[in-house]
Amino acid sequence: MSTLQEKINSLYFKPDDSWQHVIIRDQKLCKDCSANPCLTICPAGVFGWNYAVTAPIGIAYKQCIECGACRLACPCKNIDFFYPKSSYGVIYTEEQPTS
Ligand code: SF4
Ligand code: SF4
Repeated sequence: MSTLQEKINSLYFKPDDSWQHVIIRDQKLCKDCSANPCLTICPAGVFGWNYAVTAPIGIAYKQCIECGACRLACPCKNIDFFYPKSSYGVIYTEEQPTS
């Protein structure tokens, strides 16, 4: 029987280095977004304010758990979220990944 720790560790994310599945359409809109709900709604902490003039919101898409909340929360409909391509993204396994 699996231990609780083994069950918690049964979700893995296989990133697609060739395609980012969460994007912000226009970063200029983010500078005028007062509430920045993407920073707090995401349970995986994908979005972060980085003070860059050209891209104020950083997107760590490789830690996305694919809940879709960001797409709904953005008041400007400025976030595009797609599911990762087949064999990428959140993967459930009872085996520890070898790589
Ligand atoms: S909620 Fe939308 S508009 Fe506001 S900072 Fe986030 S991505 Fe930009
Ligand atoms: S889909 Fe969910 S986990 Fe992924 S970036 Fe959006 S809010 Fe975060």
